[in-house]
Amino acid sequence: MVHIIGAGIAGLLLAEALSKKGKKWCVYERAATVGAEASGKTAGIIRTYEADPVIAAVARASLAYYIAHEPSFRKTGILLRPWEVDYALEDAPVKIFSHGRFSGFLLEDNGTLEPMETLQRLAQNTLHGLVRYNAEMRLELSEGGVTALVDTLGGERITVQKDDQVVIAAGEGAPALSVQTATPLGLISHQRSLYEYHNTTAYRGPVEWDEESGCYFRPCDETLIATAGEQIPVEPRLSDGEAPVKSEKSLAAIAAAFPFLNPQQLKSYRTCRRTMPLDNRPYCGADQNQPGVFWFTGFGGRGISIAPALAEALSAALNGETPGFDLAPFSPARQQ
Ligand SMILES: Cc1cc2nc3c(=O)[nH]c(=O)nc-3n(C[C@H](O)[C@H](O)[C@H](O)COP(=O)(O)OP(=O)(O)OC[C@H]3O[C@@H](n4cnc5c(N)ncnc54)[C@H](O)[C@@H]3O)c2cc1C
Repeated sequence: MVHIIGAGIAGLLLAEALSKKGKKWCVYERAATVGAEASGKTAGIIRTYEADPVIAAVARASLAYYIAHEPSFRKTGILLRPWEVDYALEDAPVKIFSHGRFSGFLLEDNGTLEPMETLQRLAQNTLHGLVRYNAEMRLELSEGGVTALVDTLGGERITVQKDDQVVIAAGEGAPALSVQTATPLGLISHQRSLYEYHNTTAYRGPVEWDEESGCYFRPCDETLIATAGEQIPVEPRLSDGEAPVKSEKSLAAIAAAFPFLNPQQLKSYRTCRRTMPLDNRPYCGADQNQPGVFWFTGFGGRGISIAPALAEALSAALNGETPGFDLAPFSPARQQ
């Protein structure tokens, strides 16, 4: 049995991958539904351009997963104006941005998905396991590792058997759990808001991403979802119900980058946090000191894009198989 803490994209993809192997699992989620935190609020852009070749390979394999399995995935393409980063984009066609001021590289097979649709599809998977909501788990530890999971909301205590595995896929909740296991993960969080505008020009083109200004937008039917690339350091999330944050500075930056996204067209906005290690590579692998404990967290700004291939690899490792990817670069041991 694999106990997975967290029903974000990471935990739910892992559950799906375990199901395919016929391995039993249970996901515990502190919120009442999926999507309460980053995975439900994300922009849902699936990108493969990465300066880090290790991440780039994982992103390409993850894109293949979405093309094959995710009904809400759309190959919209991403039009990218890169900023001082060598992404090896030379083969990509050059195209002019919709505002006509400059051109970028068009990554034709990249695209978007609808995050809540993806999460709901994954949460409906009951093959070999189930998702338990309103279950905020803490670990009960002894010298031999985790002996039980305790639900601090419902009060239930779930015994962890000797051969069970515990995977922490808890996003913002991971730092608190790493205090319990005394695992130095060095996770940091940034707050980011996404702004939803009326799509008054009926834009239907690719995601437009201008790294020079830090701004991007993606089409979503009658809505254009944009951000100004805010990097506001914050403490990991400690309480429910944080109010969304609207920044006039960010709205001005978006309007300067994409003039048709002016504040009068703003419909709504949402805020969440991106949690990552300082080297910006997620953790996917065994804790060095706690037998049977695995970390699957720290995805920062690209968890949707890269979690599928890592979930597949981690499920193989949990099942005693050789993963399709070398997981050494993602080992939590690099901080220990
Ligand atoms: C504004 C914004 C835009 C983004 N846009 C993109 C994008 O376009 N493309 C992309 O690839 N990535 C994007 N990201 C990043 C992406 O959203 C995250 O990397 C990803 O969602 C992280 O998924 P996760 O499953 O690790 O964490 P989460 O989605 O946070 O899931 C963790 C879950 O664990 C639960 N939990 C926590 N602690 C406990 C506990 N003790 N017990 C039980 N449950 C617990 C939480 O309630 C939560 O549901 C964006 C992020 C932000 C903030």
